[in-house]
Amino acid sequence: EAAMPPYLGESQTTAAAFCERARPLLTAVRDPFQLEEILPALDALAPGNTAAKAALDIALHDWVGKKLGAPWFRLWGLDPAKAPVTSFTIGIDTPDVVRAKTREAAIYKIIKVKLGRSPAGDREMIEAIRSVTAAPITVDANQGWKDRDAALRMIEWLAGRGVVFIEQPMPKEQLDDTAWLRARSPLPLIADENCQRLADVPRLVGAFHGINIKLMKCTGLREAHKMILLARGLGLKVMLGCMTETSCAISAAAQLSPLVDWADLDGAVLIKNDCFDGVTIVEGRLTLPDRPGLGVVKK
Ligand code: MG
Repeated sequence: EAAMPPYLGESQTTAAAFCERARPLLTAVRDPFQLEEILPALDALAPGNTAAKAALDIALHDWVGKKLGAPWFRLWGLDPAKAPVTSFTIGIDTPDVVRAKTREAAIYKIIKVKLGRSPAGDREMIEAIRSVTAAPITVDANQGWKDRDAALRMIEWLAGRGVVFIEQPMPKEQLDDTAWLRARSPLPLIADENCQRLADVPRLVGAFHGINIKLMKCTGLREAHKMILLARGLGLKVMLGCMTETSCAISAAAQLSPLVDWADLDGAVLIKNDCFDGVTIVEGRLTLPDRPGLGVVKK
């Protein structure tokens, strides 16, 4: 699966073209278990194309796991009981709709809110959710706060309202301002737009408390696993996120979830045409199937 939000520049056409370009390399592979050889070679075929690369990475991991007869969480030595709860996103809307959607999302133990419009609109959104639930809230500002003093005031206000962390408070170009904010923020700051791939991780130390890893940004499971280990070594918190994805890509990411602090893997429950069965969400917690590979089957 390649999930391609339009703003990242990939499309069905570019993903299909990349897979076609990868065909000679893949047909020449003698040992498909050698993912440390194959995946860097695929990555070197062309810059970008991260979702198309993730699709091939996900498929190869599924194949290897099925041949070995084990789910990836087991091959990585992880305890599936440590899979975290996942947050559930409440979209920006009128206070009445926000209250209704929050009530419907009662099985989720963490609510995610996208802020970053205006201070008044942001406060209204939080107040609407708080009027119906005491569940922890995570905030994604989506680069929306341009002024660091105003951002700090907003974070201080949010810290008093049960907010757990702030994702990407400021534009990715304002890394110095984000470092200023990090030194003062009462809440952890998590990099999303600033963190695409493995090489981005070291430069985020000092500007963020943690990173948000998405398979579609980082070319798949193999690099995501390395990013988690590197982030841990650098003392960073780790969150796993997603795009709008089916249970295929969500179940792939969920294989890594026992390693992370927070998961935002609600993509498959926000769509109506999920064509796979895989990881399920039980009482808000990611529940990994005991099936080989990614644990995914076609519906
Ligand atoms: Mg985000």
